[in-house]
Amino acid sequence: MIKFLDLEKINNRFRDEIDLRIKTILDKGWYLQGEENEIFCKNFAQYCGTKHCIGVANGLDALNLIIKAMGFGIGDEIIVPANTYIASILAISQNGCTPILIEPHINTYNINPDLIEEKITPKTKAIMVVHLYGQAVQMDKIWDLAKKYNLKVIEDSAQAHGAYYKDKRTGNLSDASAFSFYPGKNLGCMGDGGAVTTNDDELAQKIKAIANYGSDRKYHHIYKGVNSRLDEIQAAVLDVKLKYIDKDNQRRREISKYYRENIKNEKIILPTAYNEDSHVWHIFAVRTKERDKFQKYLVENEIQTIIHYPTPPHKQNAYKEWANLSYPITEEIHRTIISLPMSPVITDVEVQKVVEVVNNYE
Ligand SMILES: *Cc1c(COP(=O)(O)O)cnc(C)c1O
Repeated sequence: MIKFLDLEKINNRFRDEIDLRIKTILDKGWYLQGEENEIFCKNFAQYCGTKHCIGVANGLDALNLIIKAMGFGIGDEIIVPANTYIASILAISQNGCTPILIEPHINTYNINPDLIEEKITPKTKAIMVVHLYGQAVQMDKIWDLAKKYNLKVIEDSAQAHGAYYKDKRTGNLSDASAFSFYPGKNLGCMGDGGAVTTNDDELAQKIKAIANYGSDRKYHHIYKGVNSRLDEIQAAVLDVKLKYIDKDNQRRREISKYYRENIKNEKIILPTAYNEDSHVWHIFAVRTKERDKFQKYLVENEIQTIIHYPTPPHKQNAYKEWANLSYPITEEIHRTIISLPMSPVITDVEVQKVVEVVNNYE
């Protein structure tokens, strides 16, 4: 079976380095908010090109903390793509804000910036973009709108570590960006982890404090904070893997290029890249009308696939108040999308086999 994502193989490449770093932590006996966090956050901020990086417990918390620190709550509206993983939208609701959903482009799956302005009201406070599947959103129009209407811009970069828009990386395209280091992400740890990156000194201090019980120094609480920290072991693992992410992303681009040049089947619609060199292909999602039949055919041919995602957020039970809303492009994507094997450890032979099997699908 060609695995969709072989996490064991991915992390075993760095086994010796990871072992050594974890041994150091055991020797020191310091598990939270120590040197490993400082080192990784410094390196990750530098990688993204931002002044600050704050390690937090996971990607959802990173989004939540950004919205909280910006001071948004009940009565405030935040614009967000309808076509996203539910976490982006949950972070908005969990702060008491109202998510305003925007349809995507059918071929890139990312938010369509041309549909945003008509949804802006006096209550709108921010635009949250999601760099879905590893492709940075086209930001120019978003920045123009933010300026025109005095809105904050928030990035959900959970799927796009290392991707570029023009000359800047994700994480550095907005007022504040959330990252997830969930094991399957392009930069993944060995459990849960996340981070916020920003160039805003004040916001960075505030997020750091809120994430640590609202405290700016021990037993001194200036906010009603939460507990959301990146532990030392995860920070160390991430710091090891950060050195290899550009190489890994390059391998993903190679695979996607091969898929895009060689998959030739009129039943399969390939994904579109605005720019080949800046996409990091967290997921290689194709579309096809009879998706279940296609998936079954691939399993019979020893190829594992995953659906990202089978049901859009507005059709989930969690948002039953939206049951009557209609986002036809989002729904069409969810009905037809399927993700082919994509990871830095897939071999050329496996990639060729996937292409051959997909091309023979009738
Ligand atoms: C993974 C993901 C998240 C959430 O990250 P966690 O670390 O699992 O909380 C948020 N947004 C998007 C788009 C994601 O893919």
